[in-house]
Amino acid sequence: MEFKVIKSDHPLSDSQREALLENPAFGVNFTDHQVIIEWTEENGWQNARVEAYGPMLMDPSSAVLHYGQEVFEGIKAYRHQDGSIHTFRPEANGKRLQRSAHRMALPELPVELFVESLRQLIAVDHAWVPEPVNEKTLYFRPFEIAAENFLGVRAAKRAEYRVIASPVGPYFTGGLKPVSIWIALDSARAGKYGTGEAKTGGNYAASLLAQNEGYANGCSQVLFLDADTHTHIEELGGMNVFLVYKDGPVVTPALDGTILRGITRDSVIQLLRDRGIEVQEREVSLSELRDGYNSGAISEVFACGTAAVITPVGKFVSREEVIGPENPEPGDLTTSLREELTGIQYGRIPDRHNWLVKLR
Ligand SMILES: *Cc1c(COP(=O)(O)O)cnc(C)c1O
Repeated sequence: MEFKVIKSDHPLSDSQREALLENPAFGVNFTDHQVIIEWTEENGWQNARVEAYGPMLMDPSSAVLHYGQEVFEGIKAYRHQDGSIHTFRPEANGKRLQRSAHRMALPELPVELFVESLRQLIAVDHAWVPEPVNEKTLYFRPFEIAAENFLGVRAAKRAEYRVIASPVGPYFTGGLKPVSIWIALDSARAGKYGTGEAKTGGNYAASLLAQNEGYANGCSQVLFLDADTHTHIEELGGMNVFLVYKDGPVVTPALDGTILRGITRDSVIQLLRDRGIEVQEREVSLSELRDGYNSGAISEVFACGTAAVITPVGKFVSREEVIGPENPEPGDLTTSLREELTGIQYGRIPDRHNWLVKLR
């Protein structure tokens, strides 16, 4: 598919952009352009273009506003020391967007078109990819929405795919400090046969009440339990979770349809297995976490996702208890995995699994 490129007539000046790239907050400023591809039931994907970033004109009856038919992705562009720009496992994100779209009755964008859309945006906005210092990257937000104007309840016959991009620094400010996690005892994120595996806005909306509770209790993230029995740990609002046993193995909740298939999760499992460390993907009960973490048998806990990479977890807090060490330090395995993964992404370490795709 040919992309039409209509350059912005009001891009930021070099000095304005440089100022924003100095110390970018997460997802606050956006590049000069966006990608748009339209879809209709009659004609499929069409009218692919790159145009100026800006507000979208939307009818108040637009289906996405009422029934939440929406899916998204999160993926980054990394500048290497030689100036080249790379992204990480984009085919995996493209496939996941298709799976998410399928679940939400949206059309599936071809994976090649997904990868090409990132390339097209970088072709015009490459100057927005920060220098590789302080973990700065350009974060892409590809998303797809129902774009038909009507209030009936059925899958929309028009949809739109867009990509916007934001220069970002570290997700958690204040360095690699272990984060405290709130255990949601009064809400669930996703139920069996529900939408937990889809990267869709509604899952996030469902997580925010518990997140507010967490903030009020000094925690920055929330751990959700399975909706059925409320005894197994699943994942955080936007990150997968790993428990490290002092004498092995490393354990992470199995993908059972209610957990998001994190690409960072998958990469971390590979890196651990490369080191000869046993990884178990299985059911993990809250009592296993409690007993293991309190006794010291579990020596490290970390969470992972594209936005925050690999983040050490300190204590878990619920309205009933506190689990884990009072003054935690980032664990050795957590720290070295983070070094290795970011090393591959920024081109400092050989990419032995061919995870990087050069965008420019
Ligand atoms: C995006 C996301 C993750 C992390 O996935 P990555 O592919 O590693 O970025 C984990 N959990 C949820 C709920 C997510 O939306």
